[in-house]
Amino acid sequence: MAQTIAPPATGAVAPAPLPLKAIAPWAVFGIVLMMVLLYFVGAEQGATSVFSGTDVHEWVHDGRHLLGFPCH
Ligand SMILES: [Zn+2]
Repeated sequence: MAQTIAPPATGAVAPAPLPLKAIAPWAVFGIVLMMVLLYFVGAEQGATSVFSGTDVHEWVHDGRHLLGFPCH
């Protein structure tokens, strides 16, 4: 017995368009969050470090090497 795929119904519902003004604050928040994360992975050490010591550096050390930041 051959199976057939039913054609889409003629009254199919189209997805609602995303309003850009509604997602813009979340996009900005995500970008800021990624920039903070990138800072901690890439530049959080030495004289400009937010947290003293090497704890943050050690926690993100593998990500640092994965992304190709100069390290050691
Ligand atoms: Zn390293």
